[in-house]
Amino acid sequence: MQKTISIIVPIHNEEKNIPLINEELLHVFSFLPYDYEIIYVNDGSKDGSQQIIEGLLKTDDKIKCIEFSRNFGKESATSAGLQYSTGDAVIVIDADLQHPTSLIAKFIERWEGGVDVVIGLRTKTKGALGLKFLCSFFYYKVINTISETPIVSGATDFRLIDRSVVNEFDKFTEHERITRGLIDWLGFKREFVEFEANERVNGVASYSYIKLVKLALSSFVSHSLFPLKFAGYLGIFIVFVSGFGGLVVFTERYIYDDMLHWAISGTAQLALLMIFFIGIVLSCLGLIALYVGNISHEVSGRPLYVVRSVGNLEKK
Ligand code: UDP
Ligand code: MG
Repeated sequence: MQKTISIIVPIHNEEKNIPLINEELLHVFSFLPYDYEIIYVNDGSKDGSQQIIEGLLKTDDKIKCIEFSRNFGKESATSAGLQYSTGDAVIVIDADLQHPTSLIAKFIERWEGGVDVVIGLRTKTKGALGLKFLCSFFYYKVINTISETPIVSGATDFRLIDRSVVNEFDKFTEHERITRGLIDWLGFKREFVEFEANERVNGVASYSYIKLVKLALSSFVSHSLFPLKFAGYLGIFIVFVSGFGGLVVFTERYIYDDMLHWAISGTAQLALLMIFFIGIVLSCLGLIALYVGNISHEVSGRPLYVVRSVGNLEKK
């Protein structure tokens, strides 16, 4: 029996791009020995995207659509697509033709070779803004220093995901989510395929700088406790430094009666004392961070472990 590939296309104001991507996808599959379904997830578009999709639905019952009641963001759109998909493998692709459809055959080939997640690795974006590139460079530097699961720089949402991974992904309940981060967290056998991203064909990128900063912050918070613990580390550092300084100063001044003639003023002594107590407050914040971290870990409800395969057992 032919295997089925599900293609998920998140849509936000892409009326001009939908016919183009649709044509490209159909073209790709006309050469592939696979059954397919194309799921357009209309993430609250305000333009004519829905009408265009509905027009396509009539032409082919392999074309499917999910319409959101409002804009929920690409991460939610992708999650919905994954949940509704039925294929043996799922491919997520942007509607703006930045992700070359010519790579789909290569993705499938790798997947047939036993890889569970084939990830499109962006080497360069044609016509990309310098600032966006710089920001993304620093973002990956920071997240990889502080995050528990490393995120490969340039790894995109353009990827093929095996059904077994999709099933595990569907179990996630957390709301603040970066889809690709969660898929990376799941592990499994992963491989990268490099590509050069094209320029967006029509329309403008929906991700403004503010949205990107929000996304970056949310990924810091959901993948790492470092921002929280940082206050604690800072506090411990301050306590030690000011504590040591204080000890030296007070010994010299009061036990040896200013033997070294440092003549440290009362204001300076008071300042030292205050810095010491600020350090203690910050350390306590760090301590609270440990508890908050524990709570956030528990409420995110991630699975304890993820099983790739079992032998002589039934997978639970
Ligand atoms: N998108 C979406 N919801 C949003 C923003 C974007 O579904 O709130 C879709 C958009 O239609 C496109 C993909 O996500 O198919 C990538 O969006 P965009 O090109 O704006 O982002 P970038 O290329 O800058 O990552
Ligand atoms: Mg784009």
